[in-house]
Amino acid sequence: MIIIVKQGAQPTQVQDLIESIHVQGLKTTVVVGTEKTIIGVIGDTRRLDDNQLLGNPIVQVVKHISEPFKRANRQFHPDDTVIDCGGAKIGGGHFAMVAGPCSVESREQITEVARAVKAAGATMLRGGAFKPRTSPYDFQGLKADGLELLLEAKRETGLPIVTEIMNINHLPLFEEVDVIQVGARSMQNFEMLKELGRTDKPILIKRGLANTIKELLMAAEYVMSGGNDNVILCERGIRTFETATRNTLDLSAVSVLHEMTHLPVIVDPSHATGVARYVKPMAAAAAACGADGLIIEVHNNPARALCDGAQSLTPEQFRDTAELVAAVRATVAGRL
Ligand code: PEP
Ligand code: MN
Repeated sequence: MIIIVKQGAQPTQVQDLIESIHVQGLKTTVVVGTEKTIIGVIGDTRRLDDNQLLGNPIVQVVKHISEPFKRANRQFHPDDTVIDCGGAKIGGGHFAMVAGPCSVESREQITEVARAVKAAGATMLRGGAFKPRTSPYDFQGLKADGLELLLEAKRETGLPIVTEIMNINHLPLFEEVDVIQVGARSMQNFEMLKELGRTDKPILIKRGLANTIKELLMAAEYVMSGGNDNVILCERGIRTFETATRNTLDLSAVSVLHEMTHLPVIVDPSHATGVARYVKPMAAAAAACGADGLIIEVHNNPARALCDGAQSLTPEQFRDTAELVAAVRATVAGRL
């Protein structure tokens, strides 16, 4: 349920109203927006009497939210959420350009790629240390050592880092990580989402291979219900009958999500297509439909990459892509 408070209401009146809701065992989130103050009520709102609420002189509107996601719902929070990721902002007009290799492979590799993507316009560095691989015989990542190398690259370049967690028991290792990624395969690891909700780190949730937009929002809701509102959503392609690309990039998810939620939405054209030459056009398309950022795989030697080389751009190709994305963003700014 949301309660829209009349303009001019005194803070003490708003506080009294909130307390009258809390005593009924319900939780609230208050958003003081540019135009109105909204009290979001979470819990079994059947306990509240709409007419009694409307009898309060500061209450303008009482509205029931039928969707099961509440905190992530744009009706609870009409303005875009802006998330600070170790100094790089995302959302509400701030665009994130996350780039780096699929996996951290060596000190030389990650530092070389980090320097190159920074010079080409990246705002954050990605790199997997714990890798979810379909085959147990494939490279599984450098794990804790990989995280250490990523942190070295962060210290050297100043780029905030994004990296995936696969097991919540590893959380202590992520202390200095700026954005914790929940991969597509973990999107519905509800126990992990709950634990991440108890942290205050930005959490990047990738859409599962076979998950709906609503399920993605429910994953965000798991994190937010624990008290962590710093959630970034990522469209990375879904499974369809098509086999020409690794997945099918569902760009309409960007528009749908922007309508349904205030959370930032980024696009991963690398995993969506699986083919390096399709990454630039899909990155441009994501920028054209108003994505809040991109996450792109870049390798200094894609042919020798230990993971996802076929979809990895060279630093030069990344620069070219970043330039096109900037031009597209300038064209669509304020016109979507
Ligand atoms: C990744 O970002 O390297 C990755 C494994 O992505 P996804 O979970 O989207 O497959
Ligand atoms: Mn990858």
